[in-house]
Amino acid sequence: MNATVYLDNNATAPMLPEVMTAVMTSMQDCYGNPSSKHHVGDMAREALMQARGKMAALLSAAPAEIVFTSGATESNHLAILGALARDPARRHLIVSQVEHPSIRSLLPRVQQMGVRVTDIPVDSRGVPDMEALRHALTEETALVSMMWVNNETGVVMPVAEAAALAASRGVPIHVDATQAVGRMPVDMRACPADLLSFSGHKFHAPKGVGGLFVRKGFVLPALLSGRQERGRRGGTENVAALVGLGVAAELAGQHLLTGLDVVRSWRDRFEALVAARIRSMRINGAGTARIGNTSHLSFPGLNAETIIHRLDKAGICVSSGAACAASGTEASHVLLAMGQSEEMARSAIRVSFGVCNTEEEAILAAETLCDVVQPLLNRAA
Ligand code: PMP
Repeated sequence: MNATVYLDNNATAPMLPEVMTAVMTSMQDCYGNPSSKHHVGDMAREALMQARGKMAALLSAAPAEIVFTSGATESNHLAILGALARDPARRHLIVSQVEHPSIRSLLPRVQQMGVRVTDIPVDSRGVPDMEALRHALTEETALVSMMWVNNETGVVMPVAEAAALAASRGVPIHVDATQAVGRMPVDMRACPADLLSFSGHKFHAPKGVGGLFVRKGFVLPALLSGRQERGRRGGTENVAALVGLGVAAELAGQHLLTGLDVVRSWRDRFEALVAARIRSMRINGAGTARIGNTSHLSFPGLNAETIIHRLDKAGICVSSGAACAASGTEASHVLLAMGQSEEMARSAIRVSFGVCNTEEEAILAAETLCDVVQPLLNRAA
């Protein structure tokens, strides 16, 4: 078996050794319930407070603006259902066509609740139409929800512009920043979003923890009742995993200053090497801003599943980007929204790098990918 080259960081990023050590130490030493009024509880509460402070620092937010959750799926639900519960007179929700399934799958449910949903279309690069957003906003709009970085293509969305448009009509905005936090600067003093989702396992913290930034003064009814998280999210906090999240946030702050340009250079080198050998390859999201770690490539005439399977046999882990497409059932809703045919959408693979990779791995992945794709293209010709 070849050594594993893990290039699926958008699905989940491996825990950093420092994070793992902090989690294990905390599990041993900080077993108390942070709500308990004795010294063991105090220790857990202190650990939680430190983790919150570190997460807040990464986002340039105040610690009180961080609500810890079980991850971005819950944060997205809390944001949308909370915003709808805030003002029963507002029965309108605006989202983009390329949102993550944790948001798209919620839409039929909110529609059943009598909420009107407007889907903002995207262009062929995957960028939402800001004119459509401008026209969609009404006094009845409860929330605009837009992702910052698309999990499949890596396209960076114009969230600042969307937030300004929403604010001009007095409409709050939620940003799903799951693929952005820890990978590019996210500064809540500069970003005017009211709500912002993040997830630990995308930036080398454990799975099952994340949070929602809730801007000071923004009243958001809870999804899970209880006293924890200042009444905004009930349930005993996952202290050890959150300690890990804090350490990962701290490290992300440091990597943001140094590591991200390096990851982008590996990604660019990878794409250049593939482009040089496979002329028909297309980069999805080309021509607009993309995050530096993600490469979403289409190979017209081929099936992504075959490529992914062969790469896996060679030790290289990538994905198709769309969870459902992995089982061959559905083409990516993101690529379809970008105007691609089903066949074209089924030919795309997502290669997502991270700080745990190396340049050698990027080069090896490019060469192996070309070695896999070229014979398939020859056969298809
Ligand atoms: N939003 C986006 C953009 C994502 O990429 C993901 C994870 N794939 C989620 C939400 C859901 O995150 P979690 O796994 O923490 O529930």
